[in-house]
Amino acid sequence: MASNIRQTRLKAVFKAIVFGERQVNNSHDAQLFLEAVRSQELPSACVEMIVSHPPGLDAVRNSVRSNLSETFIVSHTLPFLEYLSDPGIKSLADGELLAQLLVVIANPPTLWKALVNLFNGHQLPPDRVHPFAWLALELLSLPQKAEVDVLEEVQAIIQDKSLLKSEDHAARELGYRIEKVLQLRSSSKPSMQPNGPGGRHDNDSDTFRKIAIYPTTDEFLSTQQPFYRTAFEVTESPVEKRPAIHLDNQFRLLREDMLAELREDLQVAMDVKKAKQSLLTIGKLQPVALSLTEINLSGKGPRYKPCTLLLRCYHGLGFLNKMTPEKLNKYLKDNPRFLKHQSFGALTRGKEVIAFAFIDRDRNNELLRQTPPAVCLQFTDPSSFKRALLALKLPNAQDVVQFKLVDTPVFAYEPVLAGLQAIAELPLQDLLINPSGTSSAFVGLPQLQPLVSALQSARSKMVTEKAEAVCIGKSITVDLAQLDSILHALTKPITLIQGPPGTGKSFIGAQIARYLHKAGQRILVLSYTNHALDQFLEDLLNVGIPQHDLVRLGAKAKSTLRTVPLLLSEQKGGYRRTSDAWTMIDLLRQKAASSAQELQKAFRTYGKAHTGWAEVSEFLEFLDHPLPFYKALLVPTDSNGWKHTGKKGKQAGPDYLFQRWVKGEDAGIFKKQISENSHAVWKMPRPERQSHLDRWAEELNEERLETIEELARQYNEVQSKLDAQFSDADANTMRQKKVIGCTTTGAAKYSSLIRAAAPDVILVEEAGEILESHVLTALAPSVKQLILIGDHKQLRPKINNYSLSVEKGDGYDLNRSLFERLIMQGAPHTTLQKQHRMVPEISIIPRVLTYPDLLDGPKTSDRPRIRGLQDHVVFINHGKLEDTDKVLRERHEPGVKESKKNTFEATMVLECIKFFGQQGYSADKLVILTPYLGQLRVIQDLLRENQHDPALSEMDKLELLRAGLLSKAAAKVDEKPLRVSTIDNYQGEENDIVIASLTRSNESGDIGFMSAPERLNVLVTRARNCLVLIGNMGTFMSSKKGGPTWRPFFELMKSHNHLYDGLPVRCEKHPEKTALLKEPIDFMKFCPDGGCTEPCDVLLKCGMHKCKSRCHRVIDHSQAPCHEILVKTCERNHKLKVSCDRQNDNCRDCIREDKEQERRIKRDLQLEEDRVRKEEAYVKELQEMDDELDHQRRRNKYLSDEQIREQTLEQRRQELAALKDAEIRAQEQVKQRDEITRRVAEKAKRRAKQTTSVEREADSQNPLGDLPDTAEGEWSYLKEFDGASSKPMDALMSMIGLEEVKQKFLDIKSKVDTAVRQGISLSKERYSCSMLGNPGTGKSSTASHLVF
Ligand SMILES: [Zn+2]
Ligand SMILES: [Zn+2]
Ligand SMILES: [Zn+2]
Ligand SMILES: [Zn+2]
Repeated sequence: MASNIRQTRLKAVFKAIVFGERQVNNSHDAQLFLEAVRSQELPSACVEMIVSHPPGLDAVRNSVRSNLSETFIVSHTLPFLEYLSDPGIKSLADGELLAQLLVVIANPPTLWKALVNLFNGHQLPPDRVHPFAWLALELLSLPQKAEVDVLEEVQAIIQDKSLLKSEDHAARELGYRIEKVLQLRSSSKPSMQPNGPGGRHDNDSDTFRKIAIYPTTDEFLSTQQPFYRTAFEVTESPVEKRPAIHLDNQFRLLREDMLAELREDLQVAMDVKKAKQSLLTIGKLQPVALSLTEINLSGKGPRYKPCTLLLRCYHGLGFLNKMTPEKLNKYLKDNPRFLKHQSFGALTRGKEVIAFAFIDRDRNNELLRQTPPAVCLQFTDPSSFKRALLALKLPNAQDVVQFKLVDTPVFAYEPVLAGLQAIAELPLQDLLINPSGTSSAFVGLPQLQPLVSALQSARSKMVTEKAEAVCIGKSITVDLAQLDSILHALTKPITLIQGPPGTGKSFIGAQIARYLHKAGQRILVLSYTNHALDQFLEDLLNVGIPQHDLVRLGAKAKSTLRTVPLLLSEQKGGYRRTSDAWTMIDLLRQKAASSAQELQKAFRTYGKAHTGWAEVSEFLEFLDHPLPFYKALLVPTDSNGWKHTGKKGKQAGPDYLFQRWVKGEDAGIFKKQISENSHAVWKMPRPERQSHLDRWAEELNEERLETIEELARQYNEVQSKLDAQFSDADANTMRQKKVIGCTTTGAAKYSSLIRAAAPDVILVEEAGEILESHVLTALAPSVKQLILIGDHKQLRPKINNYSLSVEKGDGYDLNRSLFERLIMQGAPHTTLQKQHRMVPEISIIPRVLTYPDLLDGPKTSDRPRIRGLQDHVVFINHGKLEDTDKVLRERHEPGVKESKKNTFEATMVLECIKFFGQQGYSADKLVILTPYLGQLRVIQDLLRENQHDPALSEMDKLELLRAGLLSKAAAKVDEKPLRVSTIDNYQGEENDIVIASLTRSNESGDIGFMSAPERLNVLVTRARNCLVLIGNMGTFMSSKKGGPTWRPFFELMKSHNHLYDGLPVRCEKHPEKTALLKEPIDFMKFCPDGGCTEPCDVLLKCGMHKCKSRCHRVIDHSQAPCHEILVKTCERNHKLKVSCDRQNDNCRDCIREDKEQERRIKRDLQLEEDRVRKEEAYVKELQEMDDELDHQRRRNKYLSDEQIREQTLEQRRQELAALKDAEIRAQEQVKQRDEITRRVAEKAKRRAKQTTSVEREADSQNPLGDLPDTAEGEWSYLKEFDGASSKPMDALMSMIGLEEVKQKFLDIKSKVDTAVRQGISLSKERYSCSMLGNPGTGKSSTASHLVF
């Protein structure tokens, strides 16, 4: 009960302290806190909590230092350390959290020193030695950058063996481990060697762990031979120093391999050397911004990336701006290598390398779309970043600083080199370093013991019964060598299985993996190529390892359909972070955010780089110089702290003196206040002042850049910690997997994930092709067993620097695989013996040359012979000389850099391929091999030129086509391309038929890298059924270096009659007909269709004609169409030529005629149809028109009727009105006449009475007073007053006499006038005037006037 309460209280204390609510102020607090920590049930969760809360770390820092007494340390501090040794803590974030805690504990080393003293004074009780030893080991293994140095003390402890004598077994075990670590740690410096490591340049160190992976300018410029040892020197070094020396040398050699290529690429980039291809150079670079975050697609806040510099590029990328967005996208898609993400390059100034950087491409290529385009560079480290910024800032930077991309695959080196540097503990160290030494005690896992016993008894039974094979499980039969290999793998810490070509290495590997997996072991499977890895993982699935136990590291693009689900990215995690982990992530995010902000701020000052008094004064204040610049230029203040004022009461600014000094003036208003020792500053002439200013500006700039560098370093550190936290989910997935597969490059790249997976066993496939350093870096500390399967008699790992190769013979042996080295140094190994690949005619070659014990498996004999060929193995000897390909270069070719080609051989190869096609072999059953890239290209070009040759383009289906069993269209589908490969790249693969062009042919016996026996071995072991080699035997025989390799080969060829001067063919149909095809033209001459020159003459399908081809392979002509041309007459008497198989087709002319007829009918029909259609349309329209007309007519008629009616009415109305008018006028006339009559009467009366003048006067006032009394007068009156006019009347009136007539006419006229005036028709009126008179009285004259 009491302890429960204590537990609760301790928990409360822990929380209070970690959350900062309570501090550790004294020894008592410390004691409570350390106990509280130990009371936490889950050590990993507890540490996560402490590290994620800054007060927690403070509490640890204080607690372990609060009391250094023996009692306290023994009873509190060491138990606390014991608690920390829980392995769960180290697995957190790849050891990052433990490392943080350890740094807090060990730096400064107060506690460490106290512990060492107690240990050395034998004051630690036996059960407290373990935590101390654990601390020693962990501190020793911390990376260099942690800056915890305990090497000396630990070395002393190990040297006096006190730890190894400890009573506690666990502590002793740690002692042994520390011993090993020390062996790896100790300086590899050989005693007083004059040209030993270190001292050549700024990146040459005596310990490889301090060497920067990327070279410096000085290193590039250094002409001294770099330091590295020969393999012999390493093996001859004292055994206790050997681990460190070995690792050191592995690092230096591998790095040199990278540098050799980098050097060459840079020389090409700087135009010192001719390029194999032009490398991209960009220039006129302007730094514009820092890019620190990526667009986070999940939308959970910014995702930080390593410090990246964004540069505008005014030279070299301009052509991108001329493209439309679509064109640009297409260009980038078509040129995937152009400015590829993570491609590597150097920032250079003239011939000087300033820094190395990787291209960081944005997702959407937006930067390249800008005008001018921008690129992002990630520099390899903060100091490179600083150097770059400095170089880009200098006045002529725009003209001389460039970024040059190089081809060197640094991504393949960097993780391995970094991995080597990080190796603290090397599992299986003794056996790896000294393989012939005593083997350590591993005898296999207890759970495997029953299986091992069963296998062992099966083995002894086999030996006694001399059995060929034994069954060891469900349909699994093995021979003795295979059984021995399995037994080795189950009982030995290091297993080496040599598998000659075709002996089923993967089969054995998969069986071993199955057993170990069953026994609960975690296995890391390593391969050199993705191709081999996928194959092996598929094998593992096939032997029954469940898919959910497997995981494949690497890119999706490289995997196969079956291995895609194994990818790490395809695993559904379901991983949940603890709240402490989230707290830690938040904490790191905050740190990253503030760090990023500061860095951005610092970068902005770099952008401006102002050197005013504010900046200069701060700088001068700290300047160490004999002259008191700061004092002399500081504006003096009076006793009250006020600055002096000038003459006009104006206060002097703080830069008053500085500005005057800069301009070369005197101190102005402060002239008299200049102190004695400041005079020298003011006496200085202007140029001297300027030079001081320049130097200060430079130093200020340097200072600013240093700040940026430091901030960038801090930022990158936080960023990588954040990354490590986030990769926890992946690490968690890895922990749940039993079998991890990856390539060796991948293993170095994902080393933290592999450590998280903690594999027990590493199984390496193709081990003979893998560099030792790649295997060493993959050896996670958890590894207890290493299984290497490979063949050291085949080609070695690929390297770039020939001078470091085994073949060069200088002894550096970089390309000697771990597998080969171990076997060379006497490590026990098994060799598989039974090959299942080659027919005996081929397998005899590797048996004689390389593997004397090689046996043929049961399925290698009794295979069908090669159609059309006399032999399974053919060496075609010729004397046509080689040529040089100046563009391509060969890496492994000693000295000579140009590649080789041989046109004759290429043409022969082409003809051979066609020939095999004619024999019915499909393209996937063939492979063309050649050692040289130059020749590879010639052959590829030839194939391309002839791609429409039916023998090539349809070679898979030629016979089917010929036999009429396949249509041409169907033949086009699923064509497999013909494979052409270099020998080196075809290692590990096989095919039915191999045609090889050896290429080299010269008088001098120069065969270059073809002298290597491994290459010949690979070349002759790829073919299952048929091997055709084309070459100049003389050249190979006379080679000084290669002679010993090739002479036995040719002897074998000769003794087995495989040597020919051409391709020995024979007709499948006429076996007695053979030919030797020496020249390409011979193929056409002697077997144009793949058989012999005889006509085929087989009766075709038609039963009338024979096959026209020259003799060929296909016998069955029953489906073959007959192409014989016949002349025949059809029913309509057409004469025509037709191929036989088409003779029953209808006559072409008939068809044409019929077609013509049909066309005509069709045309007429069409015409008639048109006519009818038009007619119908016409009728219809006409009818409509008529309708319309009729309608319109009626409308018009009605309208005119209406008008007539209206007119008539109007007429009547007018007539009526006229009549009425006439009536009125008539009445008026009557009145007038009456008046006139009256007046006439009166006149007559007056005339009679002799009227007075008064009366006359009165008369004259009356208008009618003067009425005429004659007709003539009346007419005049009418004319004058009534508007009348008429010439006939005038004429009449002018006649003399005829008064009565005149009067009569006047009357008539009056009547007519009245009628006209009243609109009365006169037609019915008759105006007659009979003129009675004597002849000559003017009757006719009058009448002639009577037309009014
Ligand atoms: Zn024939
Ligand atoms: Zn025919
Ligand atoms: Zn035929
Ligand atoms: Zn016809």
